[in-house]
Amino acid sequence: MSDLHKSTAIEVSERIRSGDLSAEEYLYSILERIKRVEGKIHAFVTVAEENALETAREIDGKVRRGDDLGSLAGVVVAVKDNICTRGIRTTCSSRMLENFVPPYDATVIERLKAADAIIIGKTNMDEFAMGSTTETSYFGATHNPWDLSKVPGGSSGGSAAAVIAEETTVALGSDTGGSIRCPASYCSVIGLKPTYGLVSRYGLIAYANSLEQIGPLTRSVEDCALLLSVISGHDSRDSTSVDLPAKDYLKNLPDDMRGIKIGLPREFFGEGIEDAVKDAVLKAIDKLEDLGASCFEISLPMMKYALAAYYIIAMSEASSNLARYDGLRYGYRDENARGSFDEVFSKNRREGFGAEVRRRIILGTYALSAGYFEQYYIKALKIRTLIRRDFERALKDADVIVGPTMPLLPFNLGERIDDPLKLYMCDILTVPANLTGCPAISIPCGFKNGLPVGMQIIGRPFDEDTILKVAYAFEQSTNYHKLRPPI
Ligand code: GLN
Repeated sequence: MSDLHKSTAIEVSERIRSGDLSAEEYLYSILERIKRVEGKIHAFVTVAEENALETAREIDGKVRRGDDLGSLAGVVVAVKDNICTRGIRTTCSSRMLENFVPPYDATVIERLKAADAIIIGKTNMDEFAMGSTTETSYFGATHNPWDLSKVPGGSSGGSAAAVIAEETTVALGSDTGGSIRCPASYCSVIGLKPTYGLVSRYGLIAYANSLEQIGPLTRSVEDCALLLSVISGHDSRDSTSVDLPAKDYLKNLPDDMRGIKIGLPREFFGEGIEDAVKDAVLKAIDKLEDLGASCFEISLPMMKYALAAYYIIAMSEASSNLARYDGLRYGYRDENARGSFDEVFSKNRREGFGAEVRRRIILGTYALSAGYFEQYYIKALKIRTLIRRDFERALKDADVIVGPTMPLLPFNLGERIDDPLKLYMCDILTVPANLTGCPAISIPCGFKNGLPVGMQIIGRPFDEDTILKVAYAFEQSTNYHKLRPPI
């Protein structure tokens, strides 16, 4: 069997554009790979083989005719199943949307297509992106390719697992409170949550609008920069999209990182962080110092309220966003449901949503209800402002903030799913970037007992260049990103 499926996006697009490799041949190597490993991993909800083959043949036609090709020519992209794809089922891994086929493409999908990428299918996720393990999917859990008994992280677990198992060249995920970075860390890939407003959310099925962004999951920092260059940029269909000129994030990657100032928050290395994680990240930080960074300790005192504020805001927004699924206008409908509107509505939602989604709708509705609104929601917004100020202050002195992505190594499937609070605690180091809007990347930085550890680099708003530069320098001087799971 050839090693074609191991190629990076940069390699694939260069070879296809030069006519040295056909898009169809490359796609077949990926489809082969999916057939071999997908049964063990379950990264996909839908593999859109026919659609993908059609696109590959169109690309090969363009090459033959000598047409101009986009920067992702023939690159295979797996897309999280909460991003709308015209003609391809988009389920949010929920029974509620089991049969939903969007009549339109999300803006990021339009951009991928315009760059001549191939959409290979839709990846598994926690239902409506609510979770950190990809276990709440209506279609069953995804397994961590490094150890099939462990969770792959979540909620974009299918995307991260597909990338490291080489079932795709690259993938897209969404990150509301860590859902790109957590699975990136647990599967040992690169995962970037862009600055809030950098990437259009048009066509992303909303969980918590004020927090989430779509971003890349890749096996190299270069591929991450390439994918970000394609999907970012202003979109008038998303009112929170920022009007900045398009940018080539590959250009500044090789810049010197000497003199970079790195803040290490005390709160990222304190109680609740597993020793194996701490050790690996501290070793990685030594490496960054060798590469010329200057590191110093900082403090983000409001961090201790971040998780509480995040979950109140996220659940409140979720309860409002998910109110539209009543099974009458659209969504799952129990054909036998009879009675009043309330009875039918309740029955459809009880059967269409899983337990975690229902829990969050109920808690969010409670937090927004008259009398509790000020006590919970407004208070959470105030805390959010204070956390933002902590980060603004820290990022005046420091160019980037570095710490672990996850407090724990990947744990067993089933281990935490019955204890929501324990599960929510896993997000402690990722939610601050969503509350503040800052960009943040997770990169592979070590292993313990065959399980990966991710390092998180958080930057100033719209300064993706700097976090990518630090990530690239680290990657180029280490081998972690070259390791592959034994599947
Ligand atoms: N685990 C977090 C949550 O459940 C983050 C999810 C996400 O980023 N979509 O809310």
